[in-house]
Amino acid sequence: MIPKPKEKEIALERVKQLFKEAESVFKKNPERADRYVQLARKIAMKVNLRIPRELKRRFCKHCNCYLKPGINCRVRTKNKKVVYYCRNCKKFMRFVISKK
Ligand SMILES: [Zn+2]
Repeated sequence: MIPKPKEKEIALERVKQLFKEAESVFKKNPERADRYVQLARKIAMKVNLRIPRELKRRFCKHCNCYLKPGINCRVRTKNKKVVYYCRNCKKFMRFVISKK
C-alpha cells in the first residue's frame, strides 16, 4: 500500500511533536524520552517518511535513545564531520556538516 501524501504530512507533524515531548521529558524521565523516539521512528517507518535532518541528530540510530549533548552523548567535530558518541550503547554516528 502506498501512503498518501496527506498521511506523510500528518506523520511528520506527529514525529516533530514526539521529539518535542521527548525533549521536555528527558530531564525527569529519560526512559520515556527514549520511548517517544522509538514511537516517532515507528510512525515514520510506517508511512515511509524520512526523519528530518535536524531531528536525526537527536537520537541514537543504534539504540534509539534520545541524545542530549553533554548529558548522554558527546559531540565532536572532525574533518568537516560531526561525530556523536552515544554513551548509552557506546557507538558512534557521523554526520557531514553541510552548509546551506
Ligand atoms: Zn546509542
